[in-house]
Amino acid sequence: MEKLIDLRRDTITLPTLEMREAAFRSPLGDAVYGEDPKQKELEELAAFILGKERALFLPSGTMGNLVALLTHTQRGNEVILEENAHIFASETGGLAQVAGLMVKTLRGEDGAPEPEDIEKAIRPENIHYPRTALIGLENTHYRYGGIVVPLAKLQKIREVANKHNLPIHLDGARLFNAAIYLGVEAQEIARYCDSVMISLSKGLGAPVGSLLAGTGDFIKEAERYRKMLGGGMRQTGWLCACGIVALSGDNIARLQEDHDNAQFLAEGLQSLPGIKVNRHQVQTNFVLADLSERGLNATVFLERIKEKGVLATKVGEFMIRFVTSREVNREDIAFALQVIKEAIKN
Ligand SMILES: *Cc1c(COP(=O)(O)O)cnc(C)c1O
Repeated sequence: MEKLIDLRRDTITLPTLEMREAAFRSPLGDAVYGEDPKQKELEELAAFILGKERALFLPSGTMGNLVALLTHTQRGNEVILEENAHIFASETGGLAQVAGLMVKTLRGEDGAPEPEDIEKAIRPENIHYPRTALIGLENTHYRYGGIVVPLAKLQKIREVANKHNLPIHLDGARLFNAAIYLGVEAQEIARYCDSVMISLSKGLGAPVGSLLAGTGDFIKEAERYRKMLGGGMRQTGWLCACGIVALSGDNIARLQEDHDNAQFLAEGLQSLPGIKVNRHQVQTNFVLADLSERGLNATVFLERIKEKGVLATKVGEFMIRFVTSREVNREDIAFALQVIKEAIKN
């Protein structure tokens, strides 16, 4: 078989030549003692880009979110999350297992719960109730097809948070995709949140790593939890050099190509008989395709396209998710559309 066209995830992205060269040349030191120059440089760069005082480099987004939860809360507190939030649905229940938190989930199909629903969910002070300690948001929202939370909604949620003196943590694994969609700098989104986690290892293409940003005091505490969870690493310079490239030059702006390719894919899919695409949901680099009208089971469909070298993900009995990234270009997508056209024929 020729080249695989991998539309499963944006985490499949491989480090660019520039990243590999930067890693190769990187000076190294023991980061736990603050002696790795590239880790320091990356943390300062991320804090600057996100408009926060400080940032921490961590091995994964899951650890970044967990560190944020541990830092913002006490055991037995309650955190408010959208019911399909990655922190709630896809992080192995770390918030309960490790942070000892209760969760109040709310639905919000445009990526965030309604501000009024959040306000109603905040517990009054009462000896019977757990204390609400944190509001968690996600932007872009992974399970709703990479959709972007509107800034006006963030502003309203911030007002609720301020009124009740609650911090907001943002799971911004794909924050830059949201920023590009909205046509603003990432810090214009991050400013509504007390802490923000970003991933370097998704569309930005670095091999490993995430950052957690917030105030100096917040990060000072967070650093202890990072160490506790095993995220104190040593010669991280190789990874951080890749991360610096990921946040530099036009690498963030390049995400627009992934969005354009997702639009191209969505348009092509929509023109095929029996495939439904909710175009409103296609805002960034995800496309959700519904095969139910065709009665074509997602597993069968995926097997058929895999035989021809095209990969995607099943997210429901008749629902497929495609994700664009640097690893697929326009030609690849045109080819994938041909393969899909064949696959739905009978
Ligand atoms: C990938 C992802 C994470 C977790 O990042 P890992 O580095 O895979 O642990 C968190 N939130 C969202 C929305 C994600 O897509």
